[in-house]
Amino acid sequence: MTGYMNVLVAVDLSPDSAFVLDKARQIAKQYGAELSLMHVMEPIAVGYTLDISGADFETLYAEVMRQSRNSLLELGASVGIAEHRLHNVLGSPAREIRNTAKEIKADLVVVGSHGKHGFELLLGSTSSGVSHGVGCDLLIVRIPGH
Ligand code: AMP
Repeated sequence: MTGYMNVLVAVDLSPDSAFVLDKARQIAKQYGAELSLMHVMEPIAVGYTLDISGADFETLYAEVMRQSRNSLLELGASVGIAEHRLHNVLGSPAREIRNTAKEIKADLVVVGSHGKHGFELLLGSTSSGVSHGVGCDLLIVRIPGH
């Protein structure tokens, strides 16, 4: 069996992220693989009843992007991942995780599973979405307590 050379771990920046990241780090270390870390910022849905001007919305958006980028930088720095291996993108998590995996030629994607209900007892919705069409191996880390 050949090992992994290029591991991509996706985090939602919740407290569970440390657990998922740690698992990805262990695997990357075991195989001597490069590790990339990503977060997807989802577009903010603003109800049409909300009275917010275009300029205010752009300011809010820029601030959310800035905070998301900073959190990712902080998390990456805490485990020694180089800045060029951090990806903070905007869009739909499952689709962007698949796209980034393809872009950086990842051979393993690591995500967590929250296992919420029904079919999602096994697969969180994001992990399920990533599994449909990802072009490499996918590891879904069971998060304790979920
Ligand atoms: P969920 O399907 O929301 O329960 O999330 C399961 C896993 O998908 C998380 O533990 C992350 O690994 C990944 N994930 C969810 N949302 C995001 C996001 N916005 N950016 C990156 N990864 C995410």
